[in-house]
Amino acid sequence: MLQRNRRGNGRNAAEGSVVAMGDLLHNPAVVEIVEKAGGTERVTISRLKGVHTQVSCSCEIFAQEGWCQHCVDVLSLSPEILSGLDVELVAALRQLVSGLPLVIEARQLVAQQQAFAESLQKFDAERPDGVAAGKLTIFTELVSELAVASSELEDAVGRFRRRMDAWKSVSGLRAG
Ligand SMILES: [Zn+2]
Repeated sequence: MLQRNRRGNGRNAAEGSVVAMGDLLHNPAVVEIVEKAGGTERVTISRLKGVHTQVSCSCEIFAQEGWCQHCVDVLSLSPEILSGLDVELVAALRQLVSGLPLVIEARQLVAQQQAFAESLQKFDAERPDGVAAGKLTIFTELVSELAVASSELEDAVGRFRRRMDAWKSVSGLRAG
């Protein structure tokens, strides 16, 4: 059962159905990301059996953590990433990731990242200058909102990481 996003972004989660392996235009698909700070990273997405998907990135964070924002951006088809790719690759990528559980987790993670960023902005914008007794309630409210957003983001990261690694635990899927 696919989980719908609690923040109402579920319309994306339900988008598209899984395309049969034999009908894929590219498998694996390789996406090169030119970093603003310079340098290029390469995200590789391979569909294995069923909906199992192996994703890797050439960056250092991926090597250390087993996931990175590049993977999240590519899997969630971030407009910024898509705008830099040729039309054929965009079509192949959309088809490759359509309906995958990993993509649903990636989109939920993006939604939680946005919610956290908004919560942090709100905290900065609305926090009182002083801590006069009457203003403490405002702090309490802002901090608890931020704590909820932070904890939900942490959960979303955990679910995404577990889903990134899911293919490893299925025998016979590991590429040679
Ligand atoms: Zn990366």
